[in-house]
Amino acid sequence: MTTPPALNAARPAPERAELLLWMHAKLRAAYGERPLQPRREPLHELISTILSQRTTARDEEAAYQELRQLGDWDAIIAAPVGAVAHAIRRSNYPEQKAPRIQETLRRIRDAPGGYDLDFLQDLPVKDALKWLTDLPGVGVKTASLVLLFNYARPVFPVDTHVHRINTRVGTIARMGEPAAHRALLALLPPEPPLLYELHVNLLRHGQQICTWSAPRCSQCILRERCDAYATYGDRVPSFSEKG
Ligand code: SF4
Repeated sequence: MTTPPALNAARPAPERAELLLWMHAKLRAAYGERPLQPRREPLHELISTILSQRTTARDEEAAYQELRQLGDWDAIIAAPVGAVAHAIRRSNYPEQKAPRIQETLRRIRDAPGGYDLDFLQDLPVKDALKWLTDLPGVGVKTASLVLLFNYARPVFPVDTHVHRINTRVGTIARMGEPAAHRALLALLPPEPPLLYELHVNLLRHGQQICTWSAPRCSQCILRERCDAYATYGDRVPSFSEKG
């Protein structure tokens, strides 16, 4: 009787690092090169990413645009918190996010550079992550997005799609998103263009193929090396059930 091959998640780190580079090459071949360039200015990225938590991209953008109708950053800080919550109502949990956004803007305004976050470019990555995650409502994903997208710093943002695909393929064992940031970054080369391209291509793959429920494994270019496919075949369960 032959022994089935070990799942990726049980393999040593160098093998999982090689698997990540293979995934990167496959996704690039499928979706193309994605040059690293900022989507929007840093403070916009930061506030938008807070609004994006548990919210669709369309509602995030609508909430951001309506928030800016209140005026400049000073005006948003000075506005009644209820007015801010109303402006961002298309984002989920507006009552929680409104005071956090105001407090985040207040702290940034009062920092040495004011609303200019460019000092993050020169801080050691560890310190830049700490500065950002000390702000209310800013977790490691939001901080990583700002540092990678705006300042090309070597961090790897793990959103729900990145987390789900890597857990299913087995580059990481099952763990929460904050721990996945550290685990995946430790396996990847510190090359911002690669980290950016892998992030955005995983996002697309997660939206189109490796969906939360009923992933389209028969169309998946990662299938031949995927732990979930090796285990379940075409019946990979919804991510919340078994990963
Ligand atoms: S084979 Fe299925 S579970 Fe694995 S990465 Fe592809 S779509 Fe996701």
